[in-house]
Amino acid sequence: IIEMAGVNKWYGQFQVLTGIDLSVRAGERIVVCGPSGSGKSTLIRCINRLETVQQGTITVDGIELTAGGKNVDRVRAEVGMVFQQFNLFPHLTILENCTLAPMRSRGMTQQQAEEVAMQYLTRVRIPEQAKKYPAQLSGGQQQRVAIARALCMAPKIMLFDEPTSALDPEMVKEVLDTMIALAEDGMTMLCVTHEMGFARSVADRVIFMAEGRIVEQGAPTQFFDHPQHEKTRQFLGQIL
Ligand code: ATP
Ligand code: MG
Repeated sequence: IIEMAGVNKWYGQFQVLTGIDLSVRAGERIVVCGPSGSGKSTLIRCINRLETVQQGTITVDGIELTAGGKNVDRVRAEVGMVFQQFNLFPHLTILENCTLAPMRSRGMTQQQAEEVAMQYLTRVRIPEQAKKYPAQLSGGQQQRVAIARALCMAPKIMLFDEPTSALDPEMVKEVLDTMIALAEDGMTMLCVTHEMGFARSVADRVIFMAEGRIVEQGAPTQFFDHPQHEKTRQFLGQIL
């Protein structure tokens, strides 16, 4: 459902992605890890074209992203994204945060969009927060709203960029539980995270990046128990 081939990207003189080849099947759950600055965020931001690349091709659900800018909206409608910093609209209620995009780009009526939103807010277990504003919620609750908001667009793929790293420890679990439930429903997921427990139990494949390259990838047991590369071993030694 995602194909990246020969992707190279520079910020000015600095090459941030080098020779990225990545193929993701529908329903696959992928965890991306690696040291700070290795290009993890850049990699997943390329998938919904929050970043453009200079070389190589990226195809998402059959839609070629690198062919000029004209397919961007089609792809974004199919790819949900959840950020470290929640990125909710502060001046809108939780419900309004969830209904905005479906009304604008899926052509739903307000009533339809609210029904869908309440369904997903119930699924992330905070329907009672619908009328509040983001600042009135805990970090873990805000992140679950961000997930519900993305799901309201009925995406085929969900991208997560360190969704739990801005959270207090006691709120990490509630967000991971939401992600686990999503994985169990068969969602195609790419998650940048250092939650290695989550990676071990949920991921079909773990990808390790360093200096803009995919250095190593494999099933979690292989990856964690028999890392092949020195850089992977060093990284795992630091975080486990
Ligand atoms: P972290 O774990 O800290 O989030 P990361 O693996 O997500 O790191 P990226 O955010 O993808 O790394 O950044 C990769 C490299 O590209 C870093 O060296 C960063 O400084 C650089 N970089 C990122 N965004 C830009 C930008 N807009 N302009 C210039 N350089 C950038
Ligand atoms: Mg990052």
